[in-house]
Amino acid sequence: MRIGIYPGSFDPITFGHLDIIRRAAKLADRIIVGVAAHSGKSALFSVDERIKLLNTALEQGDFPKDCEIIVEGFDTLLIDLMQKHKAQMVVRGVRQYSDFEYEAQMSALNAKLSDYDIETIFLAANAEYQSIASRFIKQVAELGGDVSPFVPKHVVEALGNIQGINSTKL
Ligand code: ADP
Repeated sequence: MRIGIYPGSFDPITFGHLDIIRRAAKLADRIIVGVAAHSGKSALFSVDERIKLLNTALEQGDFPKDCEIIVEGFDTLLIDLMQKHKAQMVVRGVRQYSDFEYEAQMSALNAKLSDYDIETIFLAANAEYQSIASRFIKQVAELGGDVSPFVPKHVVEALGNIQGINSTKL
């Protein structure tokens, strides 16, 4: 059984992430989308909220039926999550060269930590989604811009709610 882990902060889930999940699902029998609690980035949504937004996106979208897709939060080392699920591969999306430098370093580190037992698969971002990063989506939403081309409708709404809360605080 081929089991892959797609880790990230998913704060929030975007069409770019969903494209990677859809494509990774063609390569494995099970994909665990690992929502990192400690990614070093300050998060807008809690892990539970990010998981909920992801699950709704997965229910609404069209994904390969022969792959089981599970969403799970984690606050451990990636290789510990991999061991827990008996996963053999890590899936990562690469948007541009600068992503690759970081990703290559992470994959070498994880390979070493796992005693070279795991492989990282890099999927090149679909040209259509290459410019999408959760970080930018949050900035655009915060400034009142239209994020509907980049994230599913329920995520637009969740971002709107947070923006509403923030603006009433001002
Ligand atoms: P971000 O960099 O947007 O904050 P994450 O930390 O959640 O995203 O990223 C999880 C993984 O998804 C990383 O491998 C990242 O490179 C990849 N990814 C993020 N956005 C895209 C996109 N638009 N297209 C392809 N891969 C992406």
